[in-house]
Amino acid sequence: MVLTFSGGPVYDVIDGSRFANGRMFCDMGPAMADGLTCVLDGTVWTSSGWFDPSPDGVSSFSPGGELIGRIHLPEVVSNLCFGGHLRTRLFITAGQSVYDTYVQTQGLPSLEPQVRLSRPKPPAMSTILAIGAHPDDIEIGCGGTVRKLIQQGWRAVHVCVTSGEAGSSTIDKSVLAATREQEARRAAEVLGSERVVFLGAPDGLTQYSRDQKIAVIDLIREVRPEILFLHASSDSFPDHRVVHELVMNAVAGAAGPWYQESTGEPHRPATILGYEVWHPLSSHELAVDITATVERKMDALRCHRSQIESMHYDEAFLGLARYRGVMSFAGSHAEVFEVLRTPLSLPAGLA
Ligand SMILES: [Zn+2]
Repeated sequence: MVLTFSGGPVYDVIDGSRFANGRMFCDMGPAMADGLTCVLDGTVWTSSGWFDPSPDGVSSFSPGGELIGRIHLPEVVSNLCFGGHLRTRLFITAGQSVYDTYVQTQGLPSLEPQVRLSRPKPPAMSTILAIGAHPDDIEIGCGGTVRKLIQQGWRAVHVCVTSGEAGSSTIDKSVLAATREQEARRAAEVLGSERVVFLGAPDGLTQYSRDQKIAVIDLIREVRPEILFLHASSDSFPDHRVVHELVMNAVAGAAGPWYQESTGEPHRPATILGYEVWHPLSSHELAVDITATVERKMDALRCHRSQIESMHYDEAFLGLARYRGVMSFAGSHAEVFEVLRTPLSLPAGLA
């Protein structure tokens, strides 16, 4: 199907060489159609401006031209486009502002050459692996630090050992797992992380399996992180404790010529940091200033709507970051960590 602009008809493309079946795709009424983009799921998104609430805003249409939904803004709308790593962030220009929102669909890849922004050169080994038991643990525990490193040129991969399907007493488990996986993907995108891996362990872990240990060894050997984030050793929340043991045992397994099921080359992260979630650390070795990224951390955390609807923990973790910042002298806001492993810097004579 080909869409033409400015009120022209829509055509079917026959054999890639000719147009046929010209027709009106949809009637925008009195609005002045401005932006238009197609989405991977086949829907068409348009923006139109008019000083009247009914046609003004962003509209989405099915491939057959049927109106599906509409976004209204407090200003006259002009153009729109999808952006972000996964093209799930919708940008809308309006009278005096640019708006953006995350949507549950994905824009088509651009046909234009990719514009590359100049970024600081990343360090030689520049990958982060962040692992959590549940889909929101990483954002809570180290979201501000991960974002800060990404801004400096690091790559980040997230791993959710479970999909958090036990996180509600009323929502069906499979529905909740899918919702929380989507929330985790969106939160990772807000931070700028590359991808989220879900290991599919059952939420409410009491122990881990050998297969899950091999899966984490595989990831460590594939991603080859320089920094690994995981639950701190003192975290007494049962799932977090099991995942801490799982990951630390996988770290040991990934480091040497063992586990023939895992084909990757041995690797050991140089730095391993334990983060806090529900049980604030009673002591810590490292405080990271996240003043510049705390807002992004909160944006990522608020992607976990299924959890925040029942408990506004985003406010609690904003308060914790403020407390950590003030008490550690690191900055206005901070995240603190248990240092489980760090490159040695020994006094002369021992090195
Ligand atoms: Zn958790």
